[in-house]
Amino acid sequence: MDCIFCKIINGDFNTEFVYENDYVAVFKDINPKAPVHLLVVPKVHVESLNELEDKNLLGELLYAVKETTKKIGLKSYKTLINTGKEAGQEVFHLHVHILGGEAALPTV
Ligand code: AMP
Ligand code: ZN
Repeated sequence: MDCIFCKIINGDFNTEFVYENDYVAVFKDINPKAPVHLLVVPKVHVESLNELEDKNLLGELLYAVKETTKKIGLKSYKTLINTGKEAGQEVFHLHVHILGGEAALPTV
């Protein structure tokens, strides 16, 4: 399958994982939009939240956010899931953005 995140998970690019367990891998966004910008990516291919059937995977994704931020000592951060092209989803393999650091903190 021609999915960039599946290839990353598969180790094709020797990407360094900030955090990893049986269900998810976490790596740096290639085009960071905040001082800390990480992507939490399930190891199974799911196109987007719209196609997700495994409820437990959501728990794994958010728990991995907690574990990752704890590991790197990031106390304040935002999480974001873009779903669908119109919402800005560019990579159609479900992922949770972690955005941290000063630039990510202003609230709406
Ligand atoms: P989204 O717009 O929610 O689909 O987010 C996709 C994110 O993946 C963007 O922030 C991209 O910068 C990031 N991205 C695309 N290709 C790569 C890659 N090869 N390694 C790391 N991040 C990537
Ligand atoms: Zn994939």
